[in-house]
Amino acid sequence: MECYKCGKAPFAKKKVEFLQLGISLGKFDALVCPVCEETVFEGSVSKKIEVKAKEAGIWGLARKTRIGTSGSSLDVKVPKVIAEFLSLKKGQEVLIEPLERNKIEITII
Ligand SMILES: [Zn+2]
Repeated sequence: MECYKCGKAPFAKKKVEFLQLGISLGKFDALVCPVCEETVFEGSVSKKIEVKAKEAGIWGLARKTRIGTSGSSLDVKVPKVIAEFLSLKKGQEVLIEPLERNKIEITII
């Protein structure tokens, strides 16, 4: 099967380490383009990855939250499941920076 991204070479089968949230879930069968390195995990492999991520407690950590107010600043409420994953505590210092007009990054420092 030709790489659908660059179209310059066929995909090759390869074992690829899968990282989620910086945690390795192991090596899995993948199709990798030797030119642009586009990596595809087939359906059955994606299921295995999902199972591993669930076992590691890092599956589906995204949550909706709301912006609150604190004096003249705005607060971002961090949902409990994310706070626990990050071992985030009240008073912890973080660096917050906009990445785009609709995206921010918060780094624990
Ligand atoms: Zn390619």
